[in-house]
This record gives sequence, structure tokens and C-alpha cells, in this order.
Amino acid sequence: MGENSKKGGRARRNESEDFLAGEIESADEEDSPNALMKKILLHICCAPCACYPSKRLKEENFAVVGFWYNPNIQPYQEYRRRLMATGYFARVTSLELITDTGYPLQDFLKGILEKDAKEKVRCSFCYKLRMERTAKAARENGFDYFTTTLLYSKFQQHDLIKEIGKKLGKKYGLDFYSEDFRDGWKEGILISKKMGLYRQQYCGCIFSEKEREARRFTSAGLLAIASSVRVLTGSHPTLSRAPYSSHSVRSQ
Ligand code: SF4
Repeated sequence: MGENSKKGGRARRNESEDFLAGEIESADEEDSPNALMKKILLHICCAPCACYPSKRLKEENFAVVGFWYNPNIQPYQEYRRRLMATGYFARVTSLELITDTGYPLQDFLKGILEKDAKEKVRCSFCYKLRMERTAKAARENGFDYFTTTLLYSKFQQHDLIKEIGKKLGKKYGLDFYSEDFRDGWKEGILISKKMGLYRQQYCGCIFSEKEREARRFTSAGLLAIASSVRVLTGSHPTLSRAPYSSHSVRSQ
């Protein structure tokens, strides 16, 4: 496994910053009641998306271990926020967690831009990057199966994820567990809200953030809102001109 990876066990019960350092205690596998169960490594894209799949896999009698590797999340502050939420989720639900906190930002952006920043194409690169890291970790740590919480999201390309998972399964000699976790969409939301988990507003990369914001408000709409706001007048010269008008020019 990579430099930043640690074999998972029960998460420490002290400062949550431990999760940022990838410091997770080792499990005593010989004592584990899970020793005879099928072992599955669950790639976790974020805590809210892990609620339903981790529950389902436990119901299916898997010994589930979570795996964090998401260098697609930008900016870094947002990445750390989601990592912290995942650490909290693992602690509260007694989910063993392995983390790879590698964050090759330049490589990620380069990979996306070399392909195409358009959603369908860039997501293919992004899925493969994260799922391949998971498959490698699964093989190196003796798991029988691997899967991903991306299969829970209504906003992801399920057929593509399954196709990539199957190919990686063959490559690494593992089974890719495929289930339509979207069936538990509402249940997952309820669990995450009950637990008070941080719920993000966009998928992860800066492109998805831009697309989400653009869907919410057009630039013209934003300017209309801004120009209708009455600014309180005061002694500062920039506060004395209200309301103001504005226009926009499109850059080439
Ligand atoms: S939209 Fe989401 S899945 Fe697609 S490239 Fe961005 S972070 Fe990855």
C-alpha cells in the first residue's frame, strides 16, 4: 500500500485529527468474530453515501472494512471536511477503516484535462483512479471482494462504474460486488441526517462545483439579485452608491 496508507482496525477514540493523519489502529484479526465471513473492502466516497451500503453489506453477512481514497475532492478544505465526516461515521458505526490520504492534486487535474473535462469522460478517469486504488488495497490485504459507495449515488453513472469494477476485478483477481444501492436512497439520507453527518453540496471536483452552482443561478440571475439589494449608506464611499446597475461581458 502507499506511504499514507494504514491497515484498518477500530478507530481511535481520541482526537478526530487522527483520521487526517491516517492513524487507525490495527485490528486483531485472529480474535475477530468476522474471521470466517467473506471480507469486502468498501470504497467510501463520503460518509452520507456510506450509510446505506455499509448497512446492506453487513446484512448480507460480509465482514466490511471501509476504504478512503478520494483525491478528486476540491478544494482541500472540503476534502478534509469529508474525510473527518467519514472518520466520525466509522467511529460511530464501529466500521473498520483504512485510509489512503494521498492527495495528488496535480496528477488528478492533469488526468482529467488530458481526457476531457466534460462530465461523462472525466468521471470515467475519476472512478477508475479511486476504484483501482481500492482493488489494489483489497488484494494486498487479503479481501475476497471490493465495491464502492458510488453505486449508492443517483448522480453517478452506474453502468460505467460496474464495467470498471468488473475489469478491475479481473485484473486484480477479486470479485467486484455489484448491487444497486440506490434502492436505499431515502433510507441512507435519513440515517445520515439522524447521525448529523456533514452533507456536501457537489460531487467533488471543481468542475462539478461549477456545474452545480451554474445550475442553481445563471450569472444574469446572480447580478439581478445583487443589483436589487439595497446597500446601507454610510461614511465609506463604496457604501454610498445604491442601488447600482451592472452589465456583463462574456470573455472569449
Ligand atoms: S463529477 Fe465527481 S465523479 Fe466526476 S470527475 Fe468530478 S468528482 Fe469525479
